[in-house]
Amino acid sequence: MSEESIIVVGGGIAGLTGAALLAKDGFQVTLVEAHSQLGGCAGTFKRGSYTFDVGATQVAGLERGGIHHRLFNYLDIPLPDAKILDPGCSVDLGDGSRPINLWHDPLRWQKERQEQFPGSEIFWSLCSKIHESNWEFVERDPILPVRNFWDLSQLIRAIRPSNLLTGFLSKLTIADLLTITGCHKDRRLRSFLDLQLKLYSQEPASRTAALYGATVLQMAQSPRGLWHLHGSMQILSDLLKESFLRDGGSLLIGHRVTKILSKKNSNIFDVNLIDRRKNLIQRQASDIVFSLPPQSLLDLIPIVGGLSTTYRESIKKLPQPSGAIVFYGGLRRADLPVDCPSHIQVFDEHFGSLFISISMENDQRAPVGMATLIASVFVDIDQWSNLDSQAYIRKKNVVQKQIRAILDQKFDLLETSWDHQELSTPRSFERWTGRPGGIVGGLGQHPDQFGPFGLSSRTPLAGLWLCGDSIYPGEGTAGVSQSALMAVRQLLESKGRHLNIPIFN
Ligand SMILES: Cc1cc2nc3c(=O)[nH]c(=O)nc-3n(C[C@H](O)[C@H](O)[C@H](O)COP(=O)(O)OP(=O)(O)OC[C@H]3O[C@@H](n4cnc5c(N)ncnc54)[C@H](O)[C@@H]3O)c2cc1C
Repeated sequence: MSEESIIVVGGGIAGLTGAALLAKDGFQVTLVEAHSQLGGCAGTFKRGSYTFDVGATQVAGLERGGIHHRLFNYLDIPLPDAKILDPGCSVDLGDGSRPINLWHDPLRWQKERQEQFPGSEIFWSLCSKIHESNWEFVERDPILPVRNFWDLSQLIRAIRPSNLLTGFLSKLTIADLLTITGCHKDRRLRSFLDLQLKLYSQEPASRTAALYGATVLQMAQSPRGLWHLHGSMQILSDLLKESFLRDGGSLLIGHRVTKILSKKNSNIFDVNLIDRRKNLIQRQASDIVFSLPPQSLLDLIPIVGGLSTTYRESIKKLPQPSGAIVFYGGLRRADLPVDCPSHIQVFDEHFGSLFISISMENDQRAPVGMATLIASVFVDIDQWSNLDSQAYIRKKNVVQKQIRAILDQKFDLLETSWDHQELSTPRSFERWTGRPGGIVGGLGQHPDQFGPFGLSSRTPLAGLWLCGDSIYPGEGTAGVSQSALMAVRQLLESKGRHLNIPIFN
């Protein structure tokens, strides 16, 4: 084994980004992916003539200076063909009122919110100030949370005077910002914020950190924005894979990591894998970049393998993330309303939020005259974990019918509108992505566990680095790419090397 042989566990966007960066830096890298396909929650699957995005359907960070743009530029790969979403989302509060459109143009969005939430401009301008200050900070690739002197130096390098001011807000929630600005009595605004924040932070306004929430609430507006990829989400993984292989990376698809053991006093990890034929393969590495949810460490690294009881306990204490239920449908485009937005969030009494993504004409997801419609809901994984197979199938059928009924009502659809439909549950996500119990989306962004107070990419095991949606800055393809960049920078620094990705202003 070369001193610089690294194993990256998991080929979702976090693992792929980390692996591509390390390969570009000349390391001998092996990326191990359990599934027969890369992409994880941002992958795709085919059903007949339809292509469905498994989880993620919108991409942030493709604009100039955005994290995908910066990384793709550094890796010297082209950006995927994508269209800005305008509106980024149309939010239907389910109370019969006009949906709220998150327009890309900031002035148009300002006009929209002034009409929709009169008197709330003071709240939005506070959010805008926080958002601008956050971006100045995030673009400089801070390390969070800080665990040693070098991390601290990177944090200080990223801090600007405005961050010192917003820093005072770090323990506040979005609901606190509503109170401070006197907007807390606006029930409609509160419902809108609860819906949107649930989507991005897994928490409502009363539990979402103000510094995190203020930013995700303005992701759809220029100069940033939300993008729709031409073809499918898989293109993101394909491009990262190309970069990785071009730079000499070694890819083991269909190989599952089953054990990681840290050899005492040797700075070497023994890694057990099984291939598709269930053959056991043993590898060694000086470092492991681990992109699975941290909860997976409990099964993969035993106490004798180096994962201390204290660290295991801290992982066990992490709040349980949500699972997801996703409805995948193929339907006649002509049966959808004219000018139907491609991304819609609907409030529903039973499910809370339903997030709907509809393919665009000629975006290669559906045959001519047809469209794909994906509707996702966050659920508690415990509702799905202990069912016997019959109860599971019954529950799945019931939920599929419930979601169909909501969609039929919302878009005035008929039985004949539909050509295909199926449902995935937390069990399906567990099978597809290997995420324990089918948990998705990382840890909620509560003031006690976001950014500076979150789980570190450094672990007590030297050479084991975490990235993915439970690590700063959190979920989404943009978030996990940033987390991978952070983990790689820390790994390089531990070997006396440095990685600075250009900032575009
Ligand atoms: C329903 C839903 C909708 C979403 N919508 C959006 C959206 O619109 N926009 C957005 O940006 N984000 C969205 N997200 C979030 C986004 O998809 C994720 O945050 C991100 O893709 C996670 O990437 P990751 O690499 O951290 O993890 P994953 O994608 O989970 O990748 C982990 C990889 O590790 C592999 N693996 C697991 N166990 C092993 C093992 N033992 N050995 C080897 N490999 C293993 C898995 O097969 C998987 O490929 C959504 C997520 C869901 C579930």
